[in-house]
Amino acid sequence: MTTGETLLVTGGAGYVGSHCVAELRARGHRVVVLDNLQQGHRAAVPTDVPFVAGDLADAALLRRVFAEHRIGAVLHFAANSLVGESMRDPFKYVGDNVTNALNLLRAAVDAGTRRFVLSSTANLFGTPERTPIDETVTIDPGSPYGESKFIVERMLHWADRVYGLRFACLRYFNAAGAHPDGTLGEDHDPETHLIPIVLDAALGKRSHVEIFGDDYATPDGTCVRDYVHVCDLADAHVKALDLLATRSGHFNLGNGQGYSVKQVIEAARRVTGRDIAVKVGPRRPGDPATLVAASARAMSELGWTPRFPDLDAIVRTAWEWKRRHPDGYGD
Ligand code: UDP
Repeated sequence: MTTGETLLVTGGAGYVGSHCVAELRARGHRVVVLDNLQQGHRAAVPTDVPFVAGDLADAALLRRVFAEHRIGAVLHFAANSLVGESMRDPFKYVGDNVTNALNLLRAAVDAGTRRFVLSSTANLFGTPERTPIDETVTIDPGSPYGESKFIVERMLHWADRVYGLRFACLRYFNAAGAHPDGTLGEDHDPETHLIPIVLDAALGKRSHVEIFGDDYATPDGTCVRDYVHVCDLADAHVKALDLLATRSGHFNLGNGQGYSVKQVIEAARRVTGRDIAVKVGPRRPGDPATLVAASARAMSELGWTPRFPDLDAIVRTAWEWKRRHPDGYGD
């Protein structure tokens, strides 16, 4: 950590961003959060953290934020992030996600900020040519969402070449779980992610879980994903900041262990001790059969070791959050 500097966290009121803010503060970093609260929750950011309610489309606002704080590094989470929505509304993704990141990068470079951590995605790899997926697998985004992140990754590449801005692109597999202290968790509206949906069914807030297809080429026919704890993702961001002292890099972040939709539902039955009714429905467009990360690079180069590699432990933290906050942040 460089003394006297502040870290700008865009999307710091969102799911992964808010956990990262907590992790940064626990390690003594000073942060300022910028969030338009479209997906984020004001209550997910502690009241003693400087908070700017605003949009990355507002270039003048960004200039002010960089002028008012000595921003040593940017951690960029704020983005539209739903694969399914991006297939219906592609320009919202390759439009807003890219222009907003461009505004942010311009403001950062103009202000002399030379470190940038990007929230990126496994969707970059589309339907991958092999699995587990390391950083040498061909990039062929599976959706306009993934494409938008890839374009931002490429902008960072050129910002490094031209301006000496160092970056870390962190490609998350399936972010899951909640802060073990019970204060932060997942709260999307509408919720589309498997684990919170399964836990809503356990709580009785949904009649059942619909399994999107059971005819995939996987052991039980349902899709296999690599669920990675949100606090482990936050930890990787803090470690990536250290890497930026010397160089840039790309990292795939997962546990290297895949679980099927049926296995996730079984884990939730074990953890909650409750019945969870399921129905099998059609496939969801754009879902590849299997996405599992090879994170050896993050482990060796960032010194990253997930603290919650076990699926039941991940589900347990999410369940604790759901039980305490059945209506999420309540806003
Ligand atoms: N899924 C499902 N039913 C649901 C939500 C998700 O069967 O109600 C499946 C989905 O098809 C995918 C996996 O669960 O195979 C994880 O989906 P999620 O939306 O959580 O994350 P994604 O893999 O899209 O990033």
